[in-house]
Amino acid sequence: MDLSKVIRDIPDFPVKGIQFKDITPVLQNIDAFKHSLDELENIILDVDFDVIVAIESRGFLFGAPLADRLDKPLSVLRKPGKLPAAVVQKTYKLEYGEATLEIHNDALKPGDKCLLVDDLLATGGTVAASAALCEELGGVVTGCLFLVELCDLPGSEALSNYPIFSLVKYGKDI
Ligand code: AMP
Repeated sequence: MDLSKVIRDIPDFPVKGIQFKDITPVLQNIDAFKHSLDELENIILDVDFDVIVAIESRGFLFGAPLADRLDKPLSVLRKPGKLPAAVVQKTYKLEYGEATLEIHNDALKPGDKCLLVDDLLATGGTVAASAALCEELGGVVTGCLFLVELCDLPGSEALSNYPIFSLVKYGKDI
C-alpha cells in the first residue's frame, strides 16, 4: 500500500506557505492504519529500546498502539500545563512559530533507552527538544520514528546524533 496516496496535502495550513501533511485519512482507513503500524514496527526491528516516548499530539496516535503491540511502556511529552506532576520543559523553534514541551520528572529511569515517536519530521526542532528532555532525565535516545519525513527540510541534520526511521518520505529528489 502506498501511504503517500492516503496522506492528504493541505496547502497554506496553518499559515501561508506551509504544505500541511494531513494524516487523518490514514487513521480513518482501517487497512492504511494497520499497514502503517505494521511498517513502523518493521523499520525499528533492530532498534534496542526500553520505552516509547510519544510526542503530543499526533505522536500519540502512533506511539500508543506501537507500545501496546511491542509490549513497551509509554511515556508522553505534552504541551505546557497538561501534565499534573513535576515536569522538566523545553522551548524550541518550529517550521511555523515556537513551542514548548514538558515531560514528567519520573517518566524515565536513568539509563532508559528511548524510542521517540512523532507523526512527522520537518525541521527536527520538536524531536531535538524531545531528545534533550529525555537526556535531561538520564535517558538515552536510541531511535526517532516518524510516519512522514519532509526531506527538503533540515530535520535529519538537526537529529544527526540519533538514528532516524521514517516510512513516507517527501522531497524534490524522491
Ligand atoms: P519540526 O519540529 O519542524 O520537525 O516539526 C514537527 C512537528 O510539527 C510535528 O509534530 C508535526 O506534526 C508538525 N508539522 C511540522 N510541519 C508539518 C507539516 N508540513 N505537515 C504536518 N505537520 C507538520
